[in-house]
Amino acid sequence: MPKRLAIDGGAPVITEPIPGGMHGPSVIDEREINAVTEVLRSGKLFRFVEDSQVSGFETEAAAKLGVKHALMVNSGTSALVCALTGVGVGPGDEVILPGYTFIATAAAIVGVGAIPVIAEIDESLGLDAADVERKITPHTKAILPVHMQGVPCRLEAIVELARKHNLKVVEDCCQCVGGEYKGKFAGTWGDAGAWSLNYYKVISCGEGGLVFSDDYDVYERAAFAAEPGLPMWMSDSEWQNKPFSCQCYRPSEILGSLARVQLSKLGDILGHTRRLKKAFLAELAEEPKGYIRQHVDDPSGECGISAAIIVCDKELAVKYAEALKAEGLNAGTAYNAGFPDRHIYAYWDSILFKHSPHPSGYPWNDPSYRGDVAYSRDMCPITLSILGRALRFGFNVNMQEEHARLMAAAINKVDAALG
Ligand SMILES: *Cc1c(COP(=O)(O)O)cnc(C)c1O
Repeated sequence: MPKRLAIDGGAPVITEPIPGGMHGPSVIDEREINAVTEVLRSGKLFRFVEDSQVSGFETEAAAKLGVKHALMVNSGTSALVCALTGVGVGPGDEVILPGYTFIATAAAIVGVGAIPVIAEIDESLGLDAADVERKITPHTKAILPVHMQGVPCRLEAIVELARKHNLKVVEDCCQCVGGEYKGKFAGTWGDAGAWSLNYYKVISCGEGGLVFSDDYDVYERAAFAAEPGLPMWMSDSEWQNKPFSCQCYRPSEILGSLARVQLSKLGDILGHTRRLKKAFLAELAEEPKGYIRQHVDDPSGECGISAAIIVCDKELAVKYAEALKAEGLNAGTAYNAGFPDRHIYAYWDSILFKHSPHPSGYPWNDPSYRGDVAYSRDMCPITLSILGRALRFGFNVNMQEEHARLMAAAINKVDAALG
């Protein structure tokens, strides 16, 4: 007999609130405070100084990732812009991205004058390679896979597809800092990767980003994209490519010093979240009745900051969410009538309606664009179906393993009763 659900008057599984909070900002201590204070006392706030904090962060991040080149910028969005510019994406080009990502991913594509082409996700909640292949046109220049909530997408299939069609790959790792996939860090499978260090991400300096690549030309072009003044600080003879100027995405030394301390804590943060997810999965029913688990291609490498279940139908998913809430576990479906989540393409009005920053209507009406991309709210029905049935749960450094086990127990109880 299933236990009586809390929604029907039974005793809830979770009686104390599950601790919330951000990842990186939760572990700020004297080390970050001292690092920032030292920069302030030195008065050297600009990156082009000796013993630069920003270049220190770049060196340490590149070593951690095992890549040759890394450039710190002021946000994840600017990291994507620089990565796209770095690999040569620009006006007239189409870039394929998943319909489930923060709108900033699409904005970065528009930001370089290119066209976002929205593709379906699969049960990994990441880009579906088969749909990407269907959406390749003669104008496609790059694929932009996104690793949502710490879980790398089916990267191997994407990279293989890109090779077959001679396309670039830029990986959006803004939510997957430190995540690994089949023995390599997320972001190092493609031609360039991008981190965000904003408040909500795995490690944070408040606002910040990193673009990284093994390819020196990609790195150098990203550096030009991030700093029109570079030719002022270095002579042209030091560059392999001809410098060009566009935006300025320089981070300050304060951000660099914070990012260095946070990077040194990345291993501990992920060690903790991975233990939580392990405890959660160990408790979760092996053979659930009403849902499947999110597909995770490489469980050992993912960040462990989230878990998702995909309920077999939408009405049932809403019932699961309500029952879980009564058990003490908050879990709305990702796509629902209540909240316009900007991580779902159906709410990207500025993209769907091709709102241009300029009366010319670029990038869609740019004369160099010969394609005819069309958008509509229901253009990716599989994505909306999956997200309408997906319940997501977060793990953070303020939680203990017992919390993770209780979360799984609540799901088991609801599934046994409703599934
Ligand atoms: C946060 C985020 C970004 C943008 O990062 P910012 O630092 O906020 O500019 C891009 N893509 C994804 C998937 C994100 O989660």
